[in-house]
Amino acid sequence: MVFNVLKQDAELVSHLSRMPKIDSHAHLGRYYSGKPLYRLLESLNVKWLSVCWGGTRWQELKQQIDTARKIHADFPDRVTWATSFNLDNWENPDWENKTIETIGEGFESGAIGVKVWKDIGMCLKEPDGSYVMIDDPRFDHVFDFVEKREKTLIAHIGEPKSCWLPMDSIKVAGDREYYSMHPEEHCYGKSEIPSHSKLVKAMDRVLEKHPRLRVVRCHLASLESDIDKLAERFVRYPNFAVDLAARIGHLQVQDQQKVRNFLIQFQDRILYATDIDLDVANQTAREEKLRKARDIYISDLIYFATNREMKVPDGKTVIPGLSLPPKIIEKLFYKNALHWYQGI
Ligand SMILES: [Zn+2]
Repeated sequence: MVFNVLKQDAELVSHLSRMPKIDSHAHLGRYYSGKPLYRLLESLNVKWLSVCWGGTRWQELKQQIDTARKIHADFPDRVTWATSFNLDNWENPDWENKTIETIGEGFESGAIGVKVWKDIGMCLKEPDGSYVMIDDPRFDHVFDFVEKREKTLIAHIGEPKSCWLPMDSIKVAGDREYYSMHPEEHCYGKSEIPSHSKLVKAMDRVLEKHPRLRVVRCHLASLESDIDKLAERFVRYPNFAVDLAARIGHLQVQDQQKVRNFLIQFQDRILYATDIDLDVANQTAREEKLRKARDIYISDLIYFATNREMKVPDGKTVIPGLSLPPKIIEKLFYKNALHWYQGI
């Protein structure tokens, strides 16, 4: 993101920096980066919700959980966390008890939610080769447990629509770059993988089955390319919100008046988030990521709160910021997270 902070904006940027904010979806990863992260979050008045993920990579996930628990204990005013659970043992008859045990231990250590990730629906398989979907009845008791404990289910199910498109039809530069670097994750032409619409509908069925479960669907519920479809779901299912993690660039390539109206209409259902990920072993590289994080926070604030012109991620188009009213900025960056993540 390229933007111009004019001199007269300095005061505004300083005001926005001081305002309390929550980044409701970021990743500490496996390595301890407590103090440098704390200094950044202090300087911008941001609190992090660090989300653990990846049940089909249980050994890595366990390391993430240990790190999150430790950094939260060290800096509880700036870092909170969400747990997740093992899927390597899916075929084990004791899977449900073990899963509830892991989640319960997370809650005891301050976790405010539980993440389910895209490996459900796109990776994990039954012995007969069929994909395990998120509306599988085996998840029901686990979700009931999350609901009973008044925690939030955090659901990253599916991928952006781009994942199923041929490379030359992908509009968002970041997606083109990502799938050319990770061809194994690009689903175009891979008919065995469930379709985008099948994955979105499976998550819809979870909301139908668990109307009292509080849910935050990550990445604009994987409906970033069609916010009308997301709007329909907001009306149909009152107990879910979405986060903006790694999808602000997708909004910036759309009709900005339509995006602005959408954010105003659903001002209580959308949570600011970045998806910043510190999962690199090298400390210098992690600190470099934190320096870039500062720019991301400032440019996102300028996009939502001002009408300053900026280049969208395609590097060519210039758009004005959305200039949302201060009350909506407060909800987007702070108050909605307090509501959807009790105890944050
Ligand atoms: Zn993420």
